[in-house]
Formats: sequence, C-alpha cells, structure tokens
Amino acid sequence: MAKIDITEKVVSLAKRRGFVFQSSEIYGGLNGCWDYGPLGVELLKNVKEAWWKEMTFRENIEGIDASILMHPKVWEASGHVENFTDPMVDCKECKARFREDTLEEAECGNKAYKGRKAGKCRKEGKFTEARNFNLMFKTYLGALEDKDAIVYLRPETAQGIYVNFLNVKESSRQKLPFGIAQIGKAFRNEINTKNFLFRTREFEQMEMQFFINPNEDEKWFEYWKENRINWFVKYGINRDKLNIHVHEKLAHYAKAAVDIEFAFPFGWGEIEGIHNRTDFDLKRHSEFSGKKIEYFDDQTKERYIPFVIETSAGASRSFMAFLLNAYEEEQIARENLDGSKAANEARTVLRLHPALAPIKAAIFPLVNRDGMPEIAHKLTEDLRKDFKVFFDDSGAVGRRYRRQDECGTPFCITVDSDTLNDNTVTIRDRDSMVQERIHIEKTIQFLKEKI
Ligand code: ATP
Repeated sequence: MAKIDITEKVVSLAKRRGFVFQSSEIYGGLNGCWDYGPLGVELLKNVKEAWWKEMTFRENIEGIDASILMHPKVWEASGHVENFTDPMVDCKECKARFREDTLEEAECGNKAYKGRKAGKCRKEGKFTEARNFNLMFKTYLGALEDKDAIVYLRPETAQGIYVNFLNVKESSRQKLPFGIAQIGKAFRNEINTKNFLFRTREFEQMEMQFFINPNEDEKWFEYWKENRINWFVKYGINRDKLNIHVHEKLAHYAKAAVDIEFAFPFGWGEIEGIHNRTDFDLKRHSEFSGKKIEYFDDQTKERYIPFVIETSAGASRSFMAFLLNAYEEEQIARENLDGSKAANEARTVLRLHPALAPIKAAIFPLVNRDGMPEIAHKLTEDLRKDFKVFFDDSGAVGRRYRRQDECGTPFCITVDSDTLNDNTVTIRDRDSMVQERIHIEKTIQFLKEKI
C-alpha cells in the first residue's frame, strides 16, 4: 500500500475540523495563502500568546506593534531592496518556474514525467540562466502610481523593531541588555510555495531582537539558543524532533547563526532562526536616516552601537510543526458509557499541549433528559467565563470523545445520572483516556491547574 504522507492527513484533518482552509477556496484558491478557521485561529492565537508571555512577561523585554508599511528607505538601509532575492530559473520545455537552489528536491513541472526531480532536467540543460528575483511585494502609497510612491509590504518584522530602538529605550527607560518583541504579518513573494503552511506568501512572524553590549554577544547568543529550544519542548514538541543547524556560511552582517529545525515529513525544516546580527542594522539605519542611534552606559561611561541577538520564529510554521507533532493515529479499546472498554477501534488524536489546544474542555450531558442537559448547559456557561469550552449533546458519548480527540481538546466532562445524586461529573483525559470523578464545583480549579 502506498505510504500516505502524514502532511496530507493533517491537511485533511485541518480542513475537516476547521483549522485551516485554502484562501479564496470557492474561486479555486490563491497560491501560497491560507485562512485559519474557528479552531485554527484559536490554536494560532495560543501559539502567539505562549510566545508573547515567554518573551514579554519579564523585566527586560518590551513589546511593540509596528505598521506593515514602512518608509521605503528602511528597506534600502536593511539591504532588502538590493539583496532580498532568490535565483529564479524557468524550464524551457514545460515552462515551470523554480528557485534555483531547490532544484534538487523539486519535482519536474511536466506531469508526464511523474516523480522526476528537476535536478535531472537541469543536467539535461533545460533551464534558463538564473535571474535574481526580489521577494518583496510592492505597492503604492497614495493616489499616484509613480516610482516615488513605491512602498513594500514588510518581508520581516525585525526592521520595525530596529527603527524604534530609540523610541522604546527612551519611553521605557530600559538599560542594556534589553529586548523588543513583536508579532505580526510578513509577506514574501516566494517563487514556489509548497508544503502547506511551511512556505507561504503571507505569514506571521514572532521576532525578538535583544540589544546588548558587543562584549557579551557569545553569552547571549547561547542563552537565547537554549531558551528558544526549551520553549518548543515546553509546549510539547519532542526534543528528538528538533535539531540545531549551525550555519557555516554566514550572511555578511552576521557573526553567528543557527536554525532550530523541526522534523517535517519532507525532512528537517527551519522553524526559527537565531542570529548574532552584530551592530549591522542599527549602524545602517543610523547612516541612512542621519539620526545617531547609539547607547550610553552611565556606569562604564562607554558609548557604543549595541549588538543584536535576533530570535526569529514563524508563527504559522510553528503552528504547522505543533500540528504535525501532535497528530497521532492509534488503535484503542472502545470506551463504553460506564468507562469500561470493548472491541478495538482506531482513533485520531491531536496531542496538543493544553495551553495551545483551541478548546480546553467539552461538556456533554450523557442523555438528553432527567435534567442532565440543564446541568451541562449551566456548567458550560460557568466554565466559559474562563475558558474556551464546547457543549455537545449529539450522538453517542464515544463519538463525541472521538470528535474532541481530533480537535485536540484535552478534557471532556460528562454529566450523568450520578451527577443528579451527588453533584459529581466525570472528567476524561484525552491522552490517557482515564476518567475520574470530581465534584462539579471543582471543575474550574481542575482546568486552571492543568492549563
Ligand atoms: P527559508 O530559508 O525557509 O526561506 P529564511 O531563512 O528566509 O527561511 P528567516 O528570514 O530567517 O527565514 O525568517 C524567520 C522565520 O520566518 C523562519 O524560521 C520561518 O519560521 C518564517 N518564515 C520565513 N519565510 C516564510 C514563509 N515563506 N512562509 C512561512 N514562514 C516563513
């Protein structure tokens, strides 16, 4: 039997359960763009919130939210106008377009040659010479569409941080070392998009730029590398599915660079980059803006341009990694109403960390009579004040569990006939499927502790 790529299963579950839809699907979709559905928007929000808390719930990191459109000079200073390019080639035979550096893994565009790698076509001389293609999306500011009105959709959020370094330092009275964090959309006109959310044209980044004394760069680089790996592990990614890739070849401004990679079904793929960017960015913005950007240390009386340690994660790529990491199919004994087990059946479960799970608990009345729905509705309303919860009274309880397993809901709470006598409910754990009975008034406390 052909091995089905797990990505295909996750894409199908994502659509079925309302995590991710193709953008503009009814019009045939728009390449490289995706929409987050009711569960997806919750998961994405939770990923971003977990990151935001990790970064900004500390004394020496401030948050900002800069605008997507920035002064065009920003992108000259940053080097993006000149260098943010990928080498592009076209196949003279089938007309498919590729990023030259991905030809070895890419599939030939001619459907007649199923499974053939584009690298083979290259050897046969089918490609045009490589041309540099700038990945920034251009648009015009104001009514006149002339070259002076050109602005770009930002290809990264980092520049919004650098140009606000002085504003943040002065308004927050921070002293070095300190960081500035930002989450936001970024746009890249990628030559090829593929692998679901991995490479898209519109995506979200979570970036934190940490400004330091140049003498301390190695220490802080190590610190952030460890911190960022630990964050992914804390939220459930198996350590053996993470790899640190050390860059041998560095960008001209970087002193050190590593990628945190996740074991995607297609191979290792970067989910976050950690870079020692030296004083390159602040220096360039100083030169291009004419505004002095530097730091005065009142203890040592030194004046210098800070170095930057950058942590740059994709929110949408991390979202995909969290989904793939959580996805599991297993054979289990069927759960009967009384908690006992019967014949084997298959279940699909998303073992998402409770803090990331879109829905924290589902509440079921065992049957739709004897006052059980009323108690379950009341419990749902009580829990809803603190948590995203879901009420479900349709179908057998086993079926309801299965639906929630696929959504990654960590807890299911059932109101049954015992509830009528002693005010207890069962709480069933998604991963172990173990049920315990607790007093209905303790459910809030229970969820708070687990989440
Ligand atoms: P790649 O080599 O995969 O194109 P990159 O090295 O250009 O990535 P960075 O510029 O370091 O990526 O961006 C930081 C993070 O932003 C990446 O680790 C990734 O998680 C995310 N990212 C970058 N490009 C995309 C994209 N096209 N779609 C989704 N996420 C992206």
